Amino acid sequence: MENNKITLSDMAMGLAHGEFVYYYQPKISLISGKMNGAEALIRWVRADGTLVPPGEFIPLAESTGFVTEISRAMFPRLVADFLIINDINEALTVSFNLSAQDFNSPEMLNLIRAAIDSHQIDPQRLQVELTEASIINSQDTAVRENLQELAGLGVTLAMDDYGTGYASIDSLSQWPFSILKIDQGLIQRMSGSEKCATIVQASIRMAHQLGIGTVAEGIETSSIYDFLLHAGCAEAQGFLMGKPMTLSELLIFIKKDQRWSGLPIGLIHMAQLDHIQWRKNLIDQITSTSFGGTRDVEIRDMTTEMDHHTCRLGLWYYGVGQEFGGHAPFDRLEEAHRVLHDIGKELLEIARSGVSREEVTAMLRRLTKQSSIVLEMLQELENEALMSQPAIF
Ligand code: C2E
Ligand code: MG
Ligand code: MG
Repeated sequence: MENNKITLSDMAMGLAHGEFVYYYQPKISLISGKMNGAEALIRWVRADGTLVPPGEFIPLAESTGFVTEISRAMFPRLVADFLIINDINEALTVSFNLSAQDFNSPEMLNLIRAAIDSHQIDPQRLQVELTEASIINSQDTAVRENLQELAGLGVTLAMDDYGTGYASIDSLSQWPFSILKIDQGLIQRMSGSEKCATIVQASIRMAHQLGIGTVAEGIETSSIYDFLLHAGCAEAQGFLMGKPMTLSELLIFIKKDQRWSGLPIGLIHMAQLDHIQWRKNLIDQITSTSFGGTRDVEIRDMTTEMDHHTCRLGLWYYGVGQEFGGHAPFDRLEEAHRVLHDIGKELLEIARSGVSREEVTAMLRRLTKQSSIVLEMLQELENEALMSQPAIF
């Protein structure tokens, strides 16, 4: 059968005959070096046995609106597969692709909610990937509301194919994404283009500053894998680690429990930079309050920065950093970081109450001392990561 002549009625027949299936591609955590999830990718197994990739029918499905039928009809299959995967390893996340159109009405949202409720699914283990283009084209407020509600359920929303559209940064600020998925084209072009490499690096850094996780897709070589590790990317997906495979192949893959390189030096460096930046901001605020002479000092609202859960290091620690849990320096870091914030808050208070400069200076010393302790722990964590078990590559 010729794939390039696919029509809407072909698709409808195929769907009615149960010819659509999901393949699964593993995702690897660049922190642990282990598989931490899989992406469901649709395939159409036609009556004559040909396997049609989504690129050959999803565009038609999207332009005709039929994609919502596919999404709804396939969702029970996805849930059934998810339950099997999750029973084998409950730490695995399953992501699946939806179009913005799927959220024109609350139907898909309701299906997801009902599945979470009836199967007691941890919503964080489900991840919806939306392509940037489908978002940008959607001006509908219903889509926005339904997506907000989906995020409110605790389901993770990933922006797929980041770097291919035009309004990426704008859509990031407007939609409730918590994961940025860097487009495979951009990742592959990095080998030949320093500019692409810089764009990828900067995107990872930006996502980190927004408190958003990063996944890179399309990794085919170990040099790209290593680059991403050093750039601080959190997750990786690509033919190098695993191609899309059937559910039973995936189960074998999970059982193999392979380990790749997980030396997340980039992520630890970003945490160090975050902390240094925090300290600089605070000291700047204190010194202009206490030592600023006669000029009026603008007192900034430091609430977010002063809370050890919501400062950047805190967002990292209680977010993506949690994968370091069990490493002694990481576990000790929590208390050291909390103490640092207590000193910081006290310092801010005394500086604003107008005590003597000597007292402020003494307190500043305590702050920098505690800051060194925090940085040393991050350094220890990096050393530990460098000495971690041998990996496949
Ligand atoms: P996507 O969501 O960005 O998925 C990643 C695509 O990159 C997949 O292609 C995957 O096979 C491919 N890929 C992953 N790693 C590598 C690599 O190292 N090298 C190369 N060359 N390719 C790699 P696939 O499965 O053909 O899917 C294409 C697109 O179709 C997906 O892109 C997604 O946008 C769409 N799609 C897939 N399944 C569904 C679905 O169930 N619903 C909807 N609406 N769209 C879907
Ligand atoms: Mg995807
Ligand atoms: Mg993609």
